This record gives sequence, structure tokens and C-alpha cells, in this order.
Amino acid sequence: MQIVRRPRVIIRRCPTYDVERIRRIVREGMEEMDLRPRGRTLIKPNTVASGQFFPHAYTRPEFLEGVVKALRDRDDGQVTELAVGERCGITIPTRMAFEGAGYYPMFKRLGLKHYHFEEEPQREIRLEHEGRLRDYLFTPEPVAKADFFVNCPKFKSHPWTTVTFSIKAYIGIQDDRHRLIDHDHRLNEKIRDLQFIIQPELIAIDAITAGEGRMLTPVPVDLGLVILGNNQVAFDAVCCWILGIDPMTVEHIRLAHEAGFGPIELEDIDISGDVSLEEAQLKARGFKVGLIRVEKYFEGTHITAYAGPPPEAEHTDYCWGGCPGAIEEAIEVLRQYDAQCDEKLPRLHVVFGAYEGPIDARPGEKVVFIGDCTNWKGNLNGKLIRVESVYRDRSERDPYTAKHDDIFAKMVKVTGKLALSRNDDYLRLEGCPVSVAEQVLALVGLGGLKNPYLAPDQLVQFNKAYLTTRGVTAARRLKGQPYQVHGPCGRGGAAPEEVKAPAAAPPPGGE
Ligand code: SF4
Repeated sequence: MQIVRRPRVIIRRCPTYDVERIRRIVREGMEEMDLRPRGRTLIKPNTVASGQFFPHAYTRPEFLEGVVKALRDRDDGQVTELAVGERCGITIPTRMAFEGAGYYPMFKRLGLKHYHFEEEPQREIRLEHEGRLRDYLFTPEPVAKADFFVNCPKFKSHPWTTVTFSIKAYIGIQDDRHRLIDHDHRLNEKIRDLQFIIQPELIAIDAITAGEGRMLTPVPVDLGLVILGNNQVAFDAVCCWILGIDPMTVEHIRLAHEAGFGPIELEDIDISGDVSLEEAQLKARGFKVGLIRVEKYFEGTHITAYAGPPPEAEHTDYCWGGCPGAIEEAIEVLRQYDAQCDEKLPRLHVVFGAYEGPIDARPGEKVVFIGDCTNWKGNLNGKLIRVESVYRDRSERDPYTAKHDDIFAKMVKVTGKLALSRNDDYLRLEGCPVSVAEQVLALVGLGGLKNPYLAPDQLVQFNKAYLTTRGVTAARRLKGQPYQVHGPCGRGGAAPEEVKAPAAAPPPGGE
């Protein structure tokens, strides 16, 4: 598909999750943008987490249903497959996230095909653009083969990337093992690179109840909006302006713009709808966003955090996409499952990156060094301690050979680590990144907290989803279908064509 050069963003009023109203809004938006689905049409919601503990983290099923019905209304016979697909937050089976989101009854009612991306063959996409982090990426086959792609994210803040609208939601087009590669201080560049896999012709964001402050456990804010668009950068830029944020300050949006995926300036975007930008801004007034460094985040709690720069310090002095953000999400998850979480945790010190200052740990207070790149030398309780970085350059990590542990392997690994260091002043958790799940498990062990993975009301659901997923992938293997297919694959019509970076601004005084 060609990147739309004069994009449109449509802001519509929609105070409730009324399926028929959402359907009409999306259908009218598609008429206005002259869009008709075709071929393999794939809809990607944001279902990072769902269920009773994460009620505002995901695209609501009523929203998705309205979009599906609108697409069917606009189908003039060219659609060969209409499907929903997603990979939710890592370690959780997507089946469980779909179940918690209430998607299955809707899929059944509509006779809708759906993909759990981690169960599909993973196909190789070659990259050639300048500045790429690597030469190839893997994505699930339904993404690689889609002809008409519809991105249906949730309107939310994100403490690591400021916001998560359409562009950031691409983290869900990779399975766990590939998602974790470069999910570190170069995360924004990874998100930019993922744009080369596929581009949406339609974006429809669930901003009816938006989520502020956090990503997994956001505070609900009734914005009462459905926003539609036909270009991902322009779309995210307008969503930023609704919140009063300059999109050029949001790195993944700026990088996607600079790579040629669309304009960012309001003068280059046509905005229409029954809500003006100014009115939308009024509705969103006070909406909390912002990057929150880990030291600040834990102020006033039993955890003291210390963060030094990650490797490749010329890019940034803080790892926004990796371990420090993961512990913020980990504690948010634990607070949902254990109301006494903060009181139960003993005084802890967590250290990230090449931290150079003192660690204010008293006898009996554990220090946890988190991440491969952690590097520290100093005194702990009168003993000289040296923790060396074991960080491996990203060029040594190959998507072909990437592996990941499932949650049971992670439980064994983290429990073993905690047991071995029970009598020590400090503990080292390795990984790049150390995932949210591993940090949850470490805090559970250190604080005697309730383990969310063993919560009685979720255990049956989790195991059912986990075993089904394992069964599906094992059956494919038995049939001789490899999980990861090597070599560049044939692409669907939604692969972006000829992405051209915008011309650089002329130098001051030049032509
Ligand atoms: S180990 Fe963690 S903090 Fe260090 S670069 Fe990797 S993700 Fe970032």
C-alpha cells in the first residue's frame, strides 16, 4: 500500500459503547475516506491485558464488534477473509487475554475468524531502510499476508513511551521471543522498524473510555470519542495534540515520521468530524501522561531505585524501553492482586544500568541488580561488591535463534535464583530486558506477595489457555510445519510500498 500523503483524521462523539453507533461512525468514516476492505482483511485490537484486574487496558469488544460490522457494511465482495489477530502481553496466552476481554462470544456470534499470533507460523520480513536496528524481523503469518490492515488500539498513556496509540501498538505484531529483542533503550527505533512490516489503511481508536497514567492498569477517563484515520503518523500526531503534547517530543512518533510514514504537522492533516480539535482538547484537559523514571516512581515506597545509563549511552542516558519500566508495571500488577503489596514488601534496593553512586542499604535490606547491563562497584554492609555488566551487543542477538522461557520456566528460574541468594546481601537478575513477568515473580518471592500466576480464580483459565496454545503449536510441529519460517516471505497488499523520508528542512538561509 502507498502511504497517504494528505491524511485525514476524523474525531467523532461517542459517549457509550453502543455497538450500532460505533458501527455507523466507522462506516461513515470509511465512506468519507473512500475506504473499502479487500482480500485478507486483518483487524488488530490492543489486548495487552484484560479481565477483572485490567478493565481499561484493552480495546473493548463492543468497539471491535462495531468495527467488524462497519467493515462488512463496506465490503463490496472483495474481502476473502475477515479476521482479528493479536499477541497480548508476554507470558500470558492470547487465548486468556481474548477470554478476559470477552471477545469469544462476539467472535462466535459474528462467525469471525481470529488468530492468536503466538500460535501462527512466524515469517521473516527483510528490512533495508537506513538506520535499522537489524536486517530482518519476524512477524506472524497473518500480519505478513494481510492485504487490508485495520489497527484498533486503545487510547492510553504509557510511562515508558509517553503515549500508546496506533504506532506503539505494533509491539503486538510480534511473538514473545522476537518482541523481547531490542525491547530496551532502543525500543523507539524498534517500533519505527516494525512500521516497515505493515501499514493500516484504517485506524479506529477506542477513546470512549481512555486510560491515563499507566499502560496495564490505567485510570479510566471518559473521553467519549471514536477517532478514525488513514495514516498512522498523522493519526498519532492528532491524538497527541488532543492531549496538548507536541508529537515531535514523542520519540517513536517522531522516528516514524522521519522514516517517511506520514506527516506530523497539523497543517498537513485534514481534520473533520462532529468534534473539533479544540473541543477534544477540552474533553482531555488534565489527562495525565509522561515518562516516569524509576527513581521517582518508587519515591515514598519501601523500594529505593537507582538507575545509571544503559550501554550505547550516546543514544540515551536511561533505558526507557527495558528493565526500569518493567518493574513499574510489575508493581502495578502486584497491587491489583494483593492489596497489601506495598506494606508487605520489605525495604528493597533495585539497581539498573551503570549506576555509580552509593546504595543506601542497611543490614538485612536486599539489593537487587536488574538487567544484563547493570554494573556497580561499592560497599554493601562493609563489604566491597563488584557487579559486572554481562550485556551482549545487539548484533550478537539473532532473531533466527531467539528463545524465550514460558511462565513456568520463568518461575523455576526466578525461584531458584531467590533460593540461592537467600542469605546474601544482593541478588542479580539477568536478561535484556528482565521482563515484567520475571520482576513480578522476584517481588513475589522477596515480599511474600500473592502470586498473580497462581491466583485461584485465574489458575484454571490460565492453564486451559496455556495448554491449548501448547497443544496447537505441538500439533503444527507434528504435521511438519515449522514455527519459524526462514527466508523472506511473500507479502500481502498491506505491506508499505516505497516509504520515502520527508525532505530535510533547508538550512537556515538556504533555498
Ligand atoms: S539490561 Fe535492561 S536496563 Fe540494560 S539495556 Fe537491557 S533492557 Fe535496558
